[in-house]
Amino acid sequence: MNPLPRPDLRTRFTPLWHLLRDEKRWPLARLALLMLLTAVAEGVGLLLLVPIIDQVQLGTASANPLVNHLVQGMHWLGIPAGLGGLLLVFLGLVAVREILRFQRDTETLRLQTQVIDHHRTRCFERIMRAEWVLVSAKPHAYYSNMLITDINRIGQGLRFALNALSTLMLMLISLVAALALSPIMTLVALVSVLVLLAVLGKFRAQATALGHDLSGSNRAIHGCVQESLNGLKLAKLLAGETRLLDRFRHGIADLRRRQLQFQRGSAAASAGLQLGGATLLVLFLYGGVRIWHVPLAELAVLALILARLLPLFSGLHQNTLQWLHALPAAQDILALQRTHRIAAEPAPPPAGSRWPVRHDILVDNVSVQYDARQQPALDRVRILLPAGRITAITGPSGAGKSTLVDVLTGLIVPTSGSIRIDGVLLQPEQRLHWRRAVACVQQDTFLFNTSIRENLLWARPDATDADLHEALVRAAADFVLTLPTGLDTVTGDRGVQLSGGERQRIALARALLVQPSLLILDEATSALDAQNEQRIATVLERLRGQITVLIISHRSALLKRADQVVELEQGRVRTTIDHRHPAVMT
Ligand code: ADP
Repeated sequence: MNPLPRPDLRTRFTPLWHLLRDEKRWPLARLALLMLLTAVAEGVGLLLLVPIIDQVQLGTASANPLVNHLVQGMHWLGIPAGLGGLLLVFLGLVAVREILRFQRDTETLRLQTQVIDHHRTRCFERIMRAEWVLVSAKPHAYYSNMLITDINRIGQGLRFALNALSTLMLMLISLVAALALSPIMTLVALVSVLVLLAVLGKFRAQATALGHDLSGSNRAIHGCVQESLNGLKLAKLLAGETRLLDRFRHGIADLRRRQLQFQRGSAAASAGLQLGGATLLVLFLYGGVRIWHVPLAELAVLALILARLLPLFSGLHQNTLQWLHALPAAQDILALQRTHRIAAEPAPPPAGSRWPVRHDILVDNVSVQYDARQQPALDRVRILLPAGRITAITGPSGAGKSTLVDVLTGLIVPTSGSIRIDGVLLQPEQRLHWRRAVACVQQDTFLFNTSIRENLLWARPDATDADLHEALVRAAADFVLTLPTGLDTVTGDRGVQLSGGERQRIALARALLVQPSLLILDEATSALDAQNEQRIATVLERLRGQITVLIISHRSALLKRADQVVELEQGRVRTTIDHRHPAVMT
């Protein structure tokens, strides 16, 4: 177990408030009122037992002022304070309490689901809108664990915390009733309970530490599932299924071990509380009879209250332990929201906004330095992309080609230097506007598991079937129209029901539907056969003069068609060959 510092009271309960603070005030107040009323109904019911026992015990009357007030209240309401009347009122109180309890539990559940859905959606939104540098640096398992498992843990934790709050109110009211009957005994009981609480502090710190470990185990399982599914083909080819299975089993065993460890600690705390409480109760009863000489009816009720306080106190402690166990998940979720809000991309432009390129796009002395690297990924790179022309970027792996694409799509802001479109500086806050004017086809094409039509409409939701047909023809993907179900053909998960070349050409049609000012083909043909590559090269040829194209490639069929070829090496421009004026410029 990690040696984590013991969280103080503020660290333990501030996240609870942060989870609740976006909720409307009235439902929160109503829930608090329901908790309080349920507790009051219970407390009054307990006090009413004193006159009832008095009645049973030769009809004597209690001298306790609070009990007397209760009896007077009944007279005032015209209810006879005989045994029958008292029992009737007692029954009525139990009924009211149960109705209130039902309402309270329903409200608690509603609040719990509402809070969780709100935070789950907010996390998702913040992830979607955050800067690419931040999101791309996190493993997918981190996010899926947060959005699915951790948020559910918080849901459970929140319910336990609310239960703890209602138990606390019930305990306070019961204590008031007990105070009215015997202040000395109640105060002694209170001090004893506080001592018990201090003794059990270890279990509370342990619950939070185990909660941290549980987060780690959950993340490991999510990571394992995701990697196993992504690498399943490779695992099968390398006969590595057993290894994946072992890793999964190990992850599950680790998770269960930690859960069991928490349950054991929690059960031990509960047993300690019950035993300590029972010892106190026995001592009190002895003291009540032999030392303080409390009247029998009051002593009986006091014993009843203390006996009732015991499971309540134990429940309060167990609920608090459960909240503390979920606390690390709550802290992680709140931290995720905070960091991703700070790293939010600028606001998106209005729908349909365009950014035409009339003359050129200039990559003007751009440098990019990743935090984790000593060498810059791009070092004062200067490339001019003339409008309507095809520029190819080539160079060995690690030369900075993908980084250049990320800068040109506005996914990352250069550390120094800038992008100029027709001489106008692309300001960081304009990146989303510019991105709408850029379309990118990557090597690992992503198609959603839905119809080809739906996939194409992602690019332009208002496109007609005629627009889709035109884009497919332009992208040499008109084979789609000859499929038995045409545009309604479902691509399969990640497009697996289509060949690589077919997927790439559909992706190209999707990119063309955007009517981009800049079309980027990022190693888009690297995995294709010569025939499919030739098809795409022909498409590019036809686009010359219409769209500014940037291709990242090593393949000669594409490089041959470029108007200029820029070679990158270790983040710098090594050579630029202008095919229109074929002289090497270094
Ligand atoms: P290429 O696409 O030509 O293979 P990249 O642009 O991917 O080159 O990478 C250029 C350099 O920047 C490499 O040294 C790579 O390790 C580093 N790099 C790329 N992305 C990141 C990142 N997100 N964080 C840290 N370093 C990175």
